[in-house]
Amino acid sequence: DGDMISTDALVIGAGPVGLFQVFQLGLLEINAHVVDSLPHPGGQCMELYPDKPIYDIPGVLRYTGRELVANLLKQIEPFAPTFHLGQEVRVLEQRPDGRFFVETSKGSQFLAKTIIVAAGVGAFQPKLLKLDGLDKFNDSQLFYRVDNPDDFAGKKLVIVGGDDAALYWACRLATEGNTESLTLLHRRDVFQAAPETIARVKALCDAGKMRFEVGQVTAYDEKDGQLVAAQVTDVDGLTHPLPLDALLVLLGLSPKLGPVAHWGLDMERKQLLVDTEKFSTSVPGIFAVGDINTYPGKKKLILSGFHESALAAFGAAALVFPDKKIMLQYTTTSPRLHQLLGVA
Ligand code: FAD
Repeated sequence: DGDMISTDALVIGAGPVGLFQVFQLGLLEINAHVVDSLPHPGGQCMELYPDKPIYDIPGVLRYTGRELVANLLKQIEPFAPTFHLGQEVRVLEQRPDGRFFVETSKGSQFLAKTIIVAAGVGAFQPKLLKLDGLDKFNDSQLFYRVDNPDDFAGKKLVIVGGDDAALYWACRLATEGNTESLTLLHRRDVFQAAPETIARVKALCDAGKMRFEVGQVTAYDEKDGQLVAAQVTDVDGLTHPLPLDALLVLLGLSPKLGPVAHWGLDMERKQLLVDTEKFSTSVPGIFAVGDINTYPGKKKLILSGFHESALAAFGAAALVFPDKKIMLQYTTTSPRLHQLLGVA
């Protein structure tokens, strides 16, 4: 058990509900580790609508997805959760001593007294460019995200995609990526992106900093084990080679329920069945909150998830502190909570 992280609570999913779960656990003096497959916290709010306003967070007239997530992160700062990002929870098994063994796709291992599954609609994963054998170039010449813009310096780069993320990276790499050349390739000449981002792409194309091409990658050429060109089929059905050293595919992310369905928990239509007292799944010690759970009357709203996380925290506290009577305390008046929140 050398590198194994022991924790009272492990939260699977750093969406809005997983983040507020950390707060509710913290109030009951339970520290949490949080795992998410995305490289940043925020779940659907950051991935699907960072700049759209939300109007139904109680007491907040208007929050963009990004603002909500930023303030949830600030709110949980006093509880100093440890984030393990860019890795998906694959294995979840109960040990004979009752604790849960968890392993992620990056090999991080945990032993947790309680698990709170806040996995939303599943782990967000990049949509793949599906061409036979192309995956052998994964991480050497084929990329689904940018870790470091310098990785493309001096290269003939082709970016595939037409949404905000694809256009954002095209602009950024065209201005500071020091690529030999940069081509943005999209299946049509209409983008799903903010007007100002589209205007920037046009300006950079006009300035000769990048090129835009309409077409789809339908095959590829390799030479001596290297990817040397994409075969691009245009709107007229004609195919031509587009030479490249690196292919950056940004076709968006789609959630995959994936491993959640394989942990032996009772489910109903892709959701985890929970009680409405503690939001416990069919396995005591594993709770489920937010979009991933279902019960009579369930509504997939952020505010429902917040309520669920408060009750799940009480459920977890009963297991983490079996000998302690857990009292409800108000954040306005409790000296102990003030101390925990650092506002004493
Ligand atoms: P999510 O936000 O889905 O986050 C779950 C996280 O878990 C993800 O980051 C995922 O990567 C991670 N995860 C899943 N499985 C694993 C795994 N195995 N390992 C590691 N990580 C994993 N709700 C409102 O209340 N008001 C609104 O106005 C509103 N507007 C919306 C607009 C749009 C366009 C959309 C799509 C949704 C909207 N919603 C709104 C719904 C709201 O976004 C969801 O209810 C909310 O995001 C659910 O939060 P969550 O934390 O449960 O799950």
